[in-house]
Amino acid sequence: MCGIVAYIGGKAAQSYLLEGLKRLEYRGYDSAGLAVLEGGKLNVVKAVGRVANLEDKIEDMGGFRGTIGIAHTRWATHGGVTEFNAHPHTDDRNGIAIIHNGIIENYAALKTYLEEKGHKFQSQTDTEVLAMLIGELYAPQEGVDLEAAVQAALREVTGAYAIAVICEKEPDVLVVARKGSPLMVGVGAGEYVVASDASAIVSHTTQAFVLDDYNVVKITRTGFRTSTIHNVPVTSKIMQLELELQEIELGGFSHFMQKEIFEQPKALSNCIRGRLNMDEGRIHLGGVGNFSKELSKIKNIVLTAQGTALHAAMIGEYLFEDLAKVSSVAEYASEFRYRNPIVEENTLVIAVSQSGETADTLAALQEAKERGALALGVVNVVGSSIARETDAGVYLRVGPEIGVASTKAFTGQVAVLSMLAMYMGRKRFMSADQCRDLMKDMERVPGLIERICEQDARIKKITEKYTHRENWLFLGRGYNYPTALEGALKLKEISYIHAEGMPAAEMKHGPIALINDGMPAVFIANRGRQYEKVMSNIQEVRSRGGHVIAVATEGDKEITKYAEDVMYIPDIPECLSPMLAVVPLQLMAYHAAVLRGHDVDKPRNLAKSVTVE
Ligand code: GLU
Repeated sequence: MCGIVAYIGGKAAQSYLLEGLKRLEYRGYDSAGLAVLEGGKLNVVKAVGRVANLEDKIEDMGGFRGTIGIAHTRWATHGGVTEFNAHPHTDDRNGIAIIHNGIIENYAALKTYLEEKGHKFQSQTDTEVLAMLIGELYAPQEGVDLEAAVQAALREVTGAYAIAVICEKEPDVLVVARKGSPLMVGVGAGEYVVASDASAIVSHTTQAFVLDDYNVVKITRTGFRTSTIHNVPVTSKIMQLELELQEIELGGFSHFMQKEIFEQPKALSNCIRGRLNMDEGRIHLGGVGNFSKELSKIKNIVLTAQGTALHAAMIGEYLFEDLAKVSSVAEYASEFRYRNPIVEENTLVIAVSQSGETADTLAALQEAKERGALALGVVNVVGSSIARETDAGVYLRVGPEIGVASTKAFTGQVAVLSMLAMYMGRKRFMSADQCRDLMKDMERVPGLIERICEQDARIKKITEKYTHRENWLFLGRGYNYPTALEGALKLKEISYIHAEGMPAAEMKHGPIALINDGMPAVFIANRGRQYEKVMSNIQEVRSRGGHVIAVATEGDKEITKYAEDVMYIPDIPECLSPMLAVVPLQLMAYHAAVLRGHDVDKPRNLAKSVTVE
């Protein structure tokens, strides 16, 4: 679920492993550990909490010089956050060490079997079961070497995994494998760096290959061999990593989240570049071009996602109905996949996910495909699982998102869904002129976001007044109802303030009972079809003692009569306004978290991409 780094080569593994773990810290984790083989012996060190704690421990021990090793940041799923449960886990016979991201679903049955065989367990994790199972099957004298033992063990396993395994008896071999959890191998000069995320590889090499599900790679200092868990040889295609080092470094900002909020103008420019064809009045999306015919026949759209991506998907629901006139619905992937969904002919399912690895979204997508839907992906990470499992897709192109709280990926997702809706609209009812007008507004979005970011100091001041309050409401209507949900989610995630988002009209149906003296209520009240209605909702809050903070359209003087504080956004057609309205809310959440003394980039209990169900 969190981070894996492994190294084999001619240099000391330790610095590669620790640097890699630091690059993966952003993904969220609760403990860390490392194993290095030195002089034929395994050295295993683990620590609860930050990678820095692990580093201190290793330093106290004098460090390791071994040239093969594995390292892990854990996000506990099975067993508490303790040193025993941290990875690497070892078997009890052969000096085998393993790190694992994911979940071994049938671990209980395997554990009973292994206990009957006399194995003694030290942790409560599912991972240790896999270590023991590999150890149980390992029989080099009978031709079952580490690679074969890993293959055999994985044939018995159900669940999701990315693993890296080393063994005292084969000190020149690193075996890695994956199913359902990301893993790639960086190929350097006489060395290999394996990681769950390209950010731990790019400072060493830009040549890498991604493992497919059920691939096992045996790596030595002189080469590698890829096969399936059934030992069928596979050809791995080496590609060039596009990631630039500066994209994953702070570059003068205090936090990645802050950097990524301010990066949105550039990120969105990249996202829309080359995709708006003004001359022809149409949208050009290379990734869906081959499905142009199918897309013109689509009758229903299901957008499926989790978390922030779901909020983008919900905006997509409005966009597709408005601009393309196709009936659309946005659904939690976790609900969609389990509720026996009806997928009619000519249904398009759109999976939205920053990482492209979100387990529930991937499963929902597979379910929809199984039932005959055409599948599109809207993801950021190139080559990710969702990107590979969809029939076609549109990449966000917003650059790597390191902050756990998603910001630029959200605006990127909304931008892509807007373009997709226009693309489909043009195949139906939208005229070239209408499309051109919207595209012109779309082109303005990056610059307008920049203007909003200039209000940062003011937004911080406004936030300061309310950070001591433990309960907030976020309210919006129409296109900006999902924006309200996103504003509330941002605040919860990093400042740990309880916040609820809802359609402004829903307030009267219950939540209004919460409003007491001074409770902050953030209204998205930009000029649009429902402006007057939002004004009435604002008055309802005011008259019950709530403090109204409004996101309003520049030039709206009227609003100052009703709201204590106003954050302005430039005027833009309503359907594009969420990309602007969300920015002050992102900044508010950021400042609230910093003011409350929280580590914005490592919020408690959260992981960057949720690759378990
Ligand atoms: N399921 C394993 C554990 O709880 C791995 C978790 C992870 O992906 O970090 O230890």
